[in-house]
Amino acid sequence: MTPTPKLIDPFARAITYLRVSVTDRCDFRCVYCMSENMTFLPKKELLSLEELDRMCSAFIDQGVEKLRITGGEPLVRKGIMTFFEGMSRHLTSGALKELTLTTNGSQLRKYAQALADCGVKRVNISLDTLDEAKFADITRWGRLAQVLDGIDAATEAGIKIKINMVALKGTNDDELEHVVSWCAVRGFDLTFIEVMPMGDLGNEDRLDQYWSLEDLRAQLRENFTLIDLPDQTGGPARYVRLEETGQRIGFITPLTHNFCESCNRVRLTCTGQLFMCLGQEDEADLRKHLRASPDDDGPLIDAIHRAILRKPKGHDFDYSRQNEGGKMSRHMSHTGG
Ligand code: SAM
Ligand code: SF4
Repeated sequence: MTPTPKLIDPFARAITYLRVSVTDRCDFRCVYCMSENMTFLPKKELLSLEELDRMCSAFIDQGVEKLRITGGEPLVRKGIMTFFEGMSRHLTSGALKELTLTTNGSQLRKYAQALADCGVKRVNISLDTLDEAKFADITRWGRLAQVLDGIDAATEAGIKIKINMVALKGTNDDELEHVVSWCAVRGFDLTFIEVMPMGDLGNEDRLDQYWSLEDLRAQLRENFTLIDLPDQTGGPARYVRLEETGQRIGFITPLTHNFCESCNRVRLTCTGQLFMCLGQEDEADLRKHLRASPDDDGPLIDAIHRAILRKPKGHDFDYSRQNEGGKMSRHMSHTGG
């Protein structure tokens, strides 16, 4: 029997999905995500691994069933496997249905088997191109071969893979069919993401890179038959199946479609701030409640409930007037993508 959800927002949406950024650091510097010379948070600002465990366990106690670990790059956080090992107890108890992560894949050769041992069954891997030179341009510090090897390691460990590809006009628009077939052959799901106006990166205008997924879909239709699938995730992605290959393709279109009405998630930063919406500034400082009562999670749980009651109806991203409407000054690596 499904337990009655405990966290219900003002729009009657049950909050059962927590995304947690465990670090703001990363071994890449993707052009749409970070500037080359990022200033990272002082280490003492970050939740410790023990605090992350307490925080996530409090959410799980309040009915969160799915936990996605992200960052920055979650696998560069020192000792992160201790945290995954801790979370696996909630899978064993049945309270948590899914423990997963979003990663750039660079550290998967090292960690894939350990993640699988902790009960991680699926990972999202961000990969915007299969071209070595373009990969180096987009990620600045990344090496494609290392990521492809990480993907192999995850496959060998029996982990199911979804590739996330940010649609970038003038960069990966000529690779669409190639990436689709590459994923089809390997049995990977594939999701396209519209580039969002996050972070003051100073170097690029997000609007120049913006490739609408409406246009991307039209390009896909030139070679494939797209069959719409009913939404099953309560998340922002809309899915189709390609008749010719049978593979599932997702589209995350915050800018062309508003997906907020079915939102079931909140986001915790690596410093313990809870963002009730990716596209709004309102946040709740949970760290202060966590640190104020180290032996009692009661005040933390009360603070979580009060925060959920502030969850807004939706975001205000809008490119329609040819500007970066609703732009957020914080970086994706802060809130966790
Ligand atoms: N480092 C991990 C990774 O790259 O998968 C996890 C964190 S990253 C911030 C999570 C996701 O956010 C990635 O898929 C990345 O492509 C996406 N992302 C970052 N900045 C973005 C932006 N401005 N617009 C759209 N997606 C973005
Ligand atoms: Fe790092 Fe992920 Fe941001 Fe790229 S998208 S810089 S891999 S956090």
